[in-house]
Amino acid sequence: SVPLSMFAGVGRASKDGMFIKGSTSLEALADADAIAFDKTGTLTDGNFTLAQVDVLKGTEEDLLALAATAEQYSNHPIARSILEKATPQGTPENYRELSGKGISCTVDGKIVAAGNDAMLQAMGVENPLQSIPKTSVYIVKDGELLGRIVFSDSVKPGVKEALKKLSGFLKTYLFSGDKKELVDAVGKELGIDESVGGLLPGEKVEALNRALKRNEKVVYVGDGINDAPVLAKSDVGIAMGTGGSDMAIETADVVILGDDIGRIPFLFDLSKQTRKICY
Ligand code: ADP
Ligand code: MG
Repeated sequence: SVPLSMFAGVGRASKDGMFIKGSTSLEALADADAIAFDKTGTLTDGNFTLAQVDVLKGTEEDLLALAATAEQYSNHPIARSILEKATPQGTPENYRELSGKGISCTVDGKIVAAGNDAMLQAMGVENPLQSIPKTSVYIVKDGELLGRIVFSDSVKPGVKEALKKLSGFLKTYLFSGDKKELVDAVGKELGIDESVGGLLPGEKVEALNRALKRNEKVVYVGDGINDAPVLAKSDVGIAMGTGGSDMAIETADVVILGDDIGRIPFLFDLSKQTRKICY
C-alpha cells in the first residue's frame, strides 16, 4: 500500500508545475545513488547564439536560408536557433530525423542534410573544415558540404548551484550526443563526476545500463528530445523543459514544466521530507 503522505508530496509538487506520475516515484528518488543529465536544452540553455558561419560554397545568406528551410519541422534547440537567424524559403519534402545526428529532407528536388560530424561520417561527406569545440551544424546538399553554422551554448542560470547541491549526495553523470570535447568541457565546468559525449540515443541507454549494472539507482533528467528510451530505462525519468515530445512525457516518471533546474534539488528534498513523514 502507498502511504498517504506520499500523495501529499505529489499534490504539493503539482502546484509548482511538476507532475509526479507513479505513486512510487518520490520514494524511488529518495533511494537514488546517481543522477544523469542530458546536456543540450537541459543543462545548457539550448538557446544557441550564432558564433560564426563558415561558407565553402555560395553565400552566407543562402546557407542560412537553406538550413532554415531544411530545419523548419525539427523541434531540436539547434533547429530553433537556426530559425531565429533565417526564414525558410519553401517547404521541404521527405523530412527525416537522423537520430543523434541531424535531419535530412529534399528541397527543390535536391537532398539536403543538416547535422553534426557523425552525420558527415555516416554520409561519407568529406570535411575540410577544422574541428572546433563548439556546436557545429554542417549543411550538405547533393552530397556536397556547403558550409557550417557554428553556435555557442551556455550553461543555464541556476545549473551550477543545483549541481553543487546534488553532488553532495549523488554521483553525477553527463550523457550527451554532442561532441566529446564540448561535453567534457561542460562537465568540467559543472564539476560532474563522469561526462560521456558523442552518444547516439541508443548509446545513452548503454551508458545508463553500465551504471545500473553497478547496482546504482539512477535518475535521468532530459528535455525529452531523443530521450524517451533512456527516460524509460532509468529508475526515475524526469522530463523537463518546453520542447519535450509527447513520447517523452508519456515515458517519464516526473514531468517538470519550464526549465528551472533548481526544481530538481527541491524534488529530492520533497522526497526525503515525504519519507520522514511516512516512517
Ligand atoms: P543532445 O541533446 O545531448 O545534444 P541529441 O540526441 O538531442 O543530444 O542530439 C545529438 C546531436 O545531434 C546534437 O548535439 C546535434 O549535433 C545533432 N542534431 C540533432 N538534431 C539536430 C537537428 N535538428 N539539426 C542539427 N543537428 C542536430
Ligand atoms: Mg537533447
